[in-house]
Amino acid sequence: MNDMSEAPSANAAAVETDVIIVGAGPIGLFAVFELGLLDLKCHLVDILDRPGGQCTELYPEKPIYDIPGIPVVTGQELTDRLLEQVKPFHAQYHFGEMASSLVKREDGRWQLITDAGTTLIAPVVVIAAGGGSFVPKRPPIPGIEAYEGSSVFYSVRKMEQFRGKDVLIAGGGDSALDWTLNLAPIAKSLTLVHHRDGFRAAQHSVNRMRELVDDKRIGFHVASVKALHGAGGQLEAVTLAGADKKEWRQPANAFLPFFGLTIKLGPIANFGLNLHENLIPVDTAKFESSTAGIFAIGDINSYPGKLKLILSGFHEAALMAQAAFHICRPNEKLRFQYTTSSSSLQKKLGVA
Ligand SMILES: Cc1cc2nc3c(=O)[nH]c(=O)nc-3n(C[C@H](O)[C@H](O)[C@H](O)COP(=O)(O)OP(=O)(O)OC[C@H]3O[C@@H](n4cnc5c(N)ncnc54)[C@H](O)[C@@H]3O)c2cc1C
Repeated sequence: MNDMSEAPSANAAAVETDVIIVGAGPIGLFAVFELGLLDLKCHLVDILDRPGGQCTELYPEKPIYDIPGIPVVTGQELTDRLLEQVKPFHAQYHFGEMASSLVKREDGRWQLITDAGTTLIAPVVVIAAGGGSFVPKRPPIPGIEAYEGSSVFYSVRKMEQFRGKDVLIAGGGDSALDWTLNLAPIAKSLTLVHHRDGFRAAQHSVNRMRELVDDKRIGFHVASVKALHGAGGQLEAVTLAGADKKEWRQPANAFLPFFGLTIKLGPIANFGLNLHENLIPVDTAKFESSTAGIFAIGDINSYPGKLKLILSGFHEAALMAQAAFHICRPNEKLRFQYTTSSSSLQKKLGVA
């Protein structure tokens, strides 16, 4: 457990809190803020070893352009800003832990247990688990496991690690095209391979990629990767097979396959919640599931008109917090207040 300043440690005793949040993605983090304004304390559990969810795991260095009031921010910067924003509320984070079971106690509260043995007890549980645990699809190339993490990467954490390398990217979607464009200026050489000469990516990215190919700044082949060659996890070359089945060897020290993600809902499927196509249906007044006291916000929920956008999740977190307050503090009145004018909110934020 840590509050972003201490190292995580095993936690044997049950911890009681106001709200348990499953998922420390952008929406789980913003929920801490909305709940914090109402004096509700939170514990967050995330399988990943850091906060940010998809933003930090899948696109930490990619710019996001549709966060209100912030014209451009990368996935990592947005996460850092959210962490800064929630700092006054001292949420406790349990990273590297999977929320694995959820049961209702006799006293009406919920008990959540993680795979690390942490037991959390609270009247409210907020599921902000995105698509659940997302795992990249591994291409069926013999022995690829031996190169994963050293030469084969399913996401880009630090662009600099590809500087001066012979980079091979495979795939035809937005991730493959975006990273082709972003890494082209950094890599020693960059080759994109896809099994056909058609892409599922944004047209402007495809156009830009084709310009780079025409200028001979990157290579593109309609081909698939058949074999990896190297030793000790260090890739040296790959065997590519073209549409005509002809094979050739191509130097490569880094291979980035972008074949999409397999979303595994994981243990949440066994929490006894009503699910529809692996999503949790909610009402749009409180974002509560059909089980009282369990809310679902962000990418994990579904309702008519749902858009899987960060800004939608932020709105959902605000409304959820109002409803969660009434469950956690049944005898207290909730007064709607603005942060601009409420000295009590400003005090909580440490600015007054
Ligand atoms: C390439 C890409 C680009 C994008 N660009 C934009 C954009 O420009 N604008 C925009 O608004 N949106 C964008 N999105 C979508 C945006 O990232 C998501 O809407 C957002 O991340 C959803 O946040 P979340 O907190 O609901 O879920 P997530 O970010 O998925 O976080 C969920 C967290 O829950 C954890 N978790 C799941 N199950 C468990 C469990 N059982 N126990 C413990 N932890 C668990 C996961 O590890 C994860 O950290 C983009 C997505 C991708 C992939």
